[in-house]
Amino acid sequence: MAATDREGGTAEQVREQVAHALQRARAAQARWASTSPRERARVLRGARERLRAGAEAAVAALASDLGKPPHEALTTEVVADVELFDWWCRHAPRLLAPRRVRLDPLHYPGKRAWIERAPAGVLGLITPWNLPVAIPLRTIVPALLAGDAVVWKPSELAPASARFVASLFTELLPADLLVVLPGAPAYGAALAAAGCDRLCFTGSAATGRKVARAAAETLTPVSLELGGKDAAIVCADVDLERAARGIVWAAFYNAGQNCAALQRCYVERAIYERFEERVVALARTLRAGPGGELPPLASPAQLERVAAQLEDAQRRGARVLCGAQRHQERWYLPTVLAEVPPDALVLQEETFGPVLSLVAVANAEEAVAQANASPYGLTASIWTRDLARARALARRLAAGVVTVNNHAFTGALPMLPWGGLKASGHGVTSSPHALEHLTQPRAVVIDRGQGPGDVWWYPYTETLLELARGSLRLLGGGLGRLAALPRLLGALRRRQRELCGEPARPGP
Ligand code: NAD
Repeated sequence: MAATDREGGTAEQVREQVAHALQRARAAQARWASTSPRERARVLRGARERLRAGAEAAVAALASDLGKPPHEALTTEVVADVELFDWWCRHAPRLLAPRRVRLDPLHYPGKRAWIERAPAGVLGLITPWNLPVAIPLRTIVPALLAGDAVVWKPSELAPASARFVASLFTELLPADLLVVLPGAPAYGAALAAAGCDRLCFTGSAATGRKVARAAAETLTPVSLELGGKDAAIVCADVDLERAARGIVWAAFYNAGQNCAALQRCYVERAIYERFEERVVALARTLRAGPGGELPPLASPAQLERVAAQLEDAQRRGARVLCGAQRHQERWYLPTVLAEVPPDALVLQEETFGPVLSLVAVANAEEAVAQANASPYGLTASIWTRDLARARALARRLAAGVVTVNNHAFTGALPMLPWGGLKASGHGVTSSPHALEHLTQPRAVVIDRGQGPGDVWWYPYTETLLELARGSLRLLGGGLGRLAALPRLLGALRRRQRELCGEPARPGP
């Protein structure tokens, strides 16, 4: 289960390694599928305890990979994930239990039915670097509980974090149930094309498109958790201090390197100036550099992307309220922009850096229209004291998650669905809805097999037609039902006699 970031040789060698991993995982999954969800939960509770007790090792891995502040490492990647294990281990046995379904006894006599949740099989999981402990765990834990095996391709940019996650399961799980591939992107491409039973991809929209294309070739169902361009709507009646603090946190947490980073903030004009002043003052208190609140940007490509978007915004006339400057080698100072034209890249494309654009709007109506005018639709937030109005506005936002008076803190919460619309992807991570992708619903129907044959089988006779027409009258509802029922029962009795070879007696 060793996780490394080494390259794996030629494309052919990588494909062979991935095929071999899939084969091993398939054999392990066949055995794991015969255990009960309760037994699986018992095993996973061991990993949960390793995570809780090994919190400082997680903090060290996240610091060495990404320079993540310990506060963010502990809150989002450890505390939330211990809770994630607890929630899934507690609820999975019930959520995965067979569910009895009632069949109409008149039409389907002697029959009983259940919906079972069969494991999907082998899940191919490809994850990004920005939350390299929480994101894999939010899928690995429910997938293993569902009876699946997982072949996981972590990010090449977070190898120590991948090794930490793998270590939670070492020698607890049966061999090969969780296979960790090296991090090089070629392994992701090979895994996407390998013919897993399911694929879960979290990453950029550009890579997501490649994964979806590869999955289409093998008809592998794929869930895509992609990028975002999250918007906030700040209404004039808001608690201004709380909103300003919340918005600064949501924009600059992890230096804005979050799918759900708040990037566009639409503020009702009545409070715009006061709000702008407070947000800028708060942003200026944040420290970039080692030991500060902001971690560095994770790669040179990220630094270039932020620089290109800032240059484009300034060229189009945006006003820089603070930041917009590189700091030391790998940091950008927290940046707040105003008067950004709607077609600027910084309002259209995902930034993945510490940049927040403030936009004054006449009212919340205009804010909803502008928030929805984005190729992305991951999460959004509304900030107001009027909670009824907030609920009404929330229904009109094109986003998979809407938060009122807070922003996108539910990304690691197992009880709520997480997922986006449009270029933010499709499919659901977390909550019972995630099991739709991780399991295969299987209908199991038992016919007690009474009598010589089913009334709907051959021979096709007048009595069968009478039975079918009687059913339609019954399904017509209203008072007609009362008259239809005795006739239908009569036709049913005649049909049963017919099947037993007794001579047909005329109906009423
Ligand atoms: P990325 O798309 O560059 O890489 C994601 C993963 O795909 C990595 O493991 C990478 O090695 C792998 N990969 C690269 N090329 C591949 C290919 N051709 N086929 C298959 N896999 C390949 O993304 P990133 O820079 O690691 O992460 C940042 C992106 O992830 C942002 O867009 C962010 O919004 C998104 N993200 C989304 C969510 C969500 O829940 N929606 C959460 C976190 C991050």
